[in-house]
Amino acid sequence: MRHSKIMTLRWLAVALLLAAGTFAATSLYAEEPTKTDFVLGTVCTVRLIEGGDKATLDEAFSRLRAIEDHMSANRDDTEISQVNAMAGKKPVKVSEDTFYVISKALEYARLTNGAFDPSVGPLVKLWNIGNGGEKVPPAKEILAAKALVDWRQVVLDTTTRTVFLKKSGMRLDLGAIAKGYAADEIEKILMNHKVKAAVIDLGGNIFVFGSKKDKSPWRVGIQNPESERGEYLGIVTGGQMTVVTSGVYERYFIENGKRYHHILSTQTGFPVDNGLVSVSIISKSSIDADALSTSLFILGIEKGMEFLKQFPDTYAIFIDKDKKIYLSVGAGKVFTLQDNTYRLAEQ
Ligand code: ADP
Ligand code: MG
Repeated sequence: MRHSKIMTLRWLAVALLLAAGTFAATSLYAEEPTKTDFVLGTVCTVRLIEGGDKATLDEAFSRLRAIEDHMSANRDDTEISQVNAMAGKKPVKVSEDTFYVISKALEYARLTNGAFDPSVGPLVKLWNIGNGGEKVPPAKEILAAKALVDWRQVVLDTTTRTVFLKKSGMRLDLGAIAKGYAADEIEKILMNHKVKAAVIDLGGNIFVFGSKKDKSPWRVGIQNPESERGEYLGIVTGGQMTVVTSGVYERYFIENGKRYHHILSTQTGFPVDNGLVSVSIISKSSIDADALSTSLFILGIEKGMEFLKQFPDTYAIFIDKDKKIYLSVGAGKVFTLQDNTYRLAEQ
C-alpha cells in the first residue's frame, strides 16, 4: 500500500518537473531522448535536451545501477551490507565511490555534531518507514537502536580503503546522500558526452545541466508539501544548478493521527519533530545539496540558517507546517512563490 503510494508520488514528481521545467524547450525539441527507470529506490529520469543520444542515457543508467549495487542498505549483496554484516568483526574493503560517499557523510556528521549521521542504520531499520506495515516501535527497541548510532565509531582507512564499524549491530545508511552523489556522477557523464542541456531527476532530486539553446533560464518547481498530487508552490529560476528537497511527505505513516516520517533524530530516536515539513537546497553540487537538505531539516530553521553560512552560493528554502516559508540570505533572488496560501516569513 504505502509503497505504491510512494511510487505514485515519485511519478508525479517527474510529471511536476516536466510541467514546471522547460516547456519552451519541450515544444521546440519534441524528440528529446529520455529514459526513466526505478533505481536507487526511486523513479529516476534523465532527459537530454540538447546533445547526447541513447548511449549517453544507457551509460548514465548503468552508473546509477552501479551506485545502487555498491551503496544500497536494503539489499544484502552490496558493499554497504557487507560492511554492516562485518560490524564489530572486521574492516571491509570497498570501492572508491563508496569510500568517497561515506567520507562525505562523515564530514557532515562532524559538521552537524551527529545530527546528520550515516550510522543511523539501526534506527532506519527499526522504523522501516516506507516499506509497509509500519508501527511505532517499542521504546526499549528505540533506545537499543539509538545506542548503536555513533559516527565516531565508523573507522575509515584511506591506505587500505576499508570501512570498519566498531560495534556489532551498527549499520550504515547512505539514503540521505547517495542520490546527490549519483546526480553529480551523471553530470560528469553528460559532460563527457558533450551534452549541452539536460534534466536529471532522481526521485525529486533535480539537477538541471548546461544551458538551453534559447538561453532561457531553467525553472524548477518546489513541491507543495501538503499536496499529494505533486503540485508545486513556487519556482526556482537560474542557470545550471541542483535543487534537492527533504520532506515529511516523502515516506511516512500515520498512527493515532500523528505522522511519522523518515528523517530520524539521533537524539530522540524518533522522526524529527520541529514544525518543518520540507527543506529545499539550491546549489552547484548535488552531494552537498542532498546532505544539506537532510542536515538542515534536522537542525531546524535557526541553527540551519546559521550552519548554511559556511557554504557559499548555496540557498535554502524552509517550509513549516503553518505554511510559512523561510528563505536563506540570497534565496529570494532565485525563488518565486506562486501559491498564495503560503506566506514568506519576514527576513
Ligand atoms: P529522500 O532520500 O527521501 O529524498 P533525504 O535525502 O532527506 O530524503 O534522506 C532521508 C533518508 O536518510 C532516510 O530515508 C534514511 O535512509 C536516512 N536518514 C534518516 N535520518 C537520518 C539522519 N539523522 N542522518 C542521516 N541520514 C538519515
Ligand atoms: Mg538528503
